[in-house]
Amino acid sequence: MHFFIALIMIIPKESKLTVEQLSTVTAIVKEYDCKLQAIVGHHRSVYAIVGEERKTVMVNRILGLDFIDRFDAVDSPFKLMDSSSELAQHKIVLGNHIVGEGPFVIAGHCTIDPKNPNLFIESAHAVKEAGAKAIRGGVWKPRTMPYSFQGDDASVKILMEARSQTGLPVDTEVMDEHQLRIAVEAGVDILQVGARNALNYSLLKSIGQMTQNKKIAILLKRSMGMGPINEFIAAAEYIAAAGNPDIMLCPRGTNPTMDGYRNYPDESITPLLKEKTWAPVIVDPCHSVGRAKYVPSAALAAISYGADGVIIESHLDPQRGIGDDPKQSIKPAVLKQLITDIEAIWAIKNRTVLTGN
Ligand code: PEP
Ligand code: MN
Repeated sequence: MHFFIALIMIIPKESKLTVEQLSTVTAIVKEYDCKLQAIVGHHRSVYAIVGEERKTVMVNRILGLDFIDRFDAVDSPFKLMDSSSELAQHKIVLGNHIVGEGPFVIAGHCTIDPKNPNLFIESAHAVKEAGAKAIRGGVWKPRTMPYSFQGDDASVKILMEARSQTGLPVDTEVMDEHQLRIAVEAGVDILQVGARNALNYSLLKSIGQMTQNKKIAILLKRSMGMGPINEFIAAAEYIAAAGNPDIMLCPRGTNPTMDGYRNYPDESITPLLKEKTWAPVIVDPCHSVGRAKYVPSAALAAISYGADGVIIESHLDPQRGIGDDPKQSIKPAVLKQLITDIEAIWAIKNRTVLTGN
């Protein structure tokens, strides 16, 4: 069932509510099954009411309090994802890894071939051995042509088998509520929202609601048509406002393409994202450049720009792969060297503050 989620921002007369004022407002919103969330802005604190939208009586009661100035929007349009929001200290934990503390590398097949489950499992072990912290494997695929292989519900079992054999968290893309339900029930750790669905607000809301409090993280790709950074962060805000703030932003190349590359590489937006939002940035160089031979450089560029990690298509034998694997998957041996280099750049980034000032 879909319920309305509204974020009404309360602006107090002073820069923040006193403890007593806070408990007065909290008690009122509780009566209406809503929650109050403090959001610390640059200059003042504002308070979000999260809950069902049309509670005019509740709103009027709060407006009637003499210490409340008005209802309004916070400085930023992003109540939850903004760097200055109350969630700014939020951490996403996946397996043994706290995202942001050391490079987070997700690697594995673009697409799981249900006819060859062992190949996926072997690649999963190989990427783990290479140093990956999570495993990717496409169960359902968004294909340009309707006649191409679209994925298979049965591949969820293969993905979960890789999880239990390696002990690593697993990632897969979901494109609709049927797939979402299967993935959540199976216990997939990271749900990928693909470039084609990053603007599908109904799906973003369903994902936020269905993954709430389930320790499932969302890897939100940047749509190939997304221009302004704010459009990308707004998509994340949809998921957070619907209940799940465990969101990683994933630049993956945009259109129009750069001649020779699959898309227009956009890892350079990482510092801009990290300034505006607290969300970790995990760059996808494979869909960006689209050819295995360009992937390592693009991945290292992403880390240089300050990304918290990368998602890489990696396959033991790319020529035997399906989906994108034959053209843009790197072999685990290449991945291993890449992860060593990523760690070296990470160490440099953390030793020196490269602000350019
Ligand atoms: C993928 O990760 O295999 C994929 C289809 O990605 P995107 O949504 O970025 O095209
Ligand atoms: Mn792919």
